[in-house]
Amino acid sequence: MTEHQAVKQTADAKMLDGARVAGEIKAEVRQGVDEFVQTYNSPPALAVVRVGDDAASLVYVRNKIRTSEELGFRSEHHALPASTSEAELLDLVSQLNGRDDVDGILVQLPLPSGIDEKKVIESIDPAKDVDGFHPLNIGRLVAGQSEAAPCTPAGIIELLKRSNIEMRGAHACVVGRSHIVGRPMAQLLLQHDATVTICHSRTIDLASITRQAHILVVAIGRAAFIRGEHIKPGAVVVDVGMNKLTDATMIDELFDDVEAARRHANFEKRGYTLIGDVHPAEAMKRAGWLTPVPGGVGLLTVAMLMRNTLHAARRRLTI
Ligand code: NDP
Repeated sequence: MTEHQAVKQTADAKMLDGARVAGEIKAEVRQGVDEFVQTYNSPPALAVVRVGDDAASLVYVRNKIRTSEELGFRSEHHALPASTSEAELLDLVSQLNGRDDVDGILVQLPLPSGIDEKKVIESIDPAKDVDGFHPLNIGRLVAGQSEAAPCTPAGIIELLKRSNIEMRGAHACVVGRSHIVGRPMAQLLLQHDATVTICHSRTIDLASITRQAHILVVAIGRAAFIRGEHIKPGAVVVDVGMNKLTDATMIDELFDDVEAARRHANFEKRGYTLIGDVHPAEAMKRAGWLTPVPGGVGLLTVAMLMRNTLHAARRRLTI
C-alpha cells in the first residue's frame, strides 16, 4: 500500500511555520481593510468585551486589539468589572448588536462564574459573531456553508493548505472535542476531504487510533500528553495546546539541548515556559511535520479573527 502524501518519508520533524502563514493572512487582511476604507470611507470595526480580571484573558484581548489596530481596523475594548451581572452584559451585547458602526463582536471567554456563557454567545448577532461560536454559525459550519468558522481550526486549515499538506484522502485524527477547537476542526477537515476520527477523554486505547493518523491535531489542554508512541512516523502533528510549565526540572526532558537552554533562560525571566499538548522532543524524532509552541497555532488564531472581522464587515454592507 502506498503511503498518503501528507506523511513525510524522512525522520525528524520539519517545523510548520505558523508565523509565516499568520504574516501572509494579516498582509491580505491589511490590504482588504485598505480597500474597504477606500470604498466606504471608514474602517471595519471590532468590539471586544472582557469581564473580570483574568490575567490570560487580558493578554489575549490586548493582543487582539493591538493586531486589529495594526491592520487598520477601528477597535473598542469594553472592560467590565468581575461584579458585572449577566443582565448588564446582555444589555451591552444588545447595544453592540444594534450599532451600525460595529461590524464584529467578540466576548472573551471564560466569563466569571454566575454568567451563563451559552446565553451570552446566543445573544450575539450571528452576522457580527466573529468567533463563529453562535449556534447558527455552528449549524452553517456543519452544513458546509460556513461564513465565519471558529478562528483556531480555520487557522489550522490555512496552515496546512499554505504548507502544501494534502488533506484529501488523509486520515485526520482530532484529539479533543471542545466546541471551540476539536469539533469545528473535525468539520473543517471533513470539508477538505479528510477521513476524520475524533478522540476524547473516554476513548479507549488512544495511541492505537492516533498512530493511524496521517494528520494528528491535538487540543486537550494537557502538557506533553501526546508522546512518540501516539504518532505515526512521518505524520503531520498540529499541537493546539497552550500550557504553562512551572517546573523547570522538566525542561531538559522535553527539549533538545539548544532549545532547553533557551527555555531555561525564558523560565528565569517569567517563572514559566509555554508548552503544548505534544511532547516536543519525542514528536521531533517521530513526526514529519510539527507546529512549535509557542509560535505555531496561536499566531494563526488572531490572524483569522481579523479575517473573520473583515468578512463580517463586507457582508454587512453588501447584503
Ligand atoms: P477543553 O478543555 O474545552 O477540551 C479539552 C478536550 O480534550 C475535551 O474534549 C476532553 O475530552 C479532551 N481530553 C482531555 N483529556 C484527554 C485525554 N487524556 N485523552 C483524550 N482527550 C482528552 O479545551 P479547549 O479545546 O478549549 O483547548 C484545548 C487546548 O488548546 C488548551 O491547552 C487551550 O489552552 C488550547 N487552545 C489554544 C488556542 C490557540 O490559539 N493556540 C485556542 C484555543 C485553545 P472530554 O470531552 O471527554 O472531556
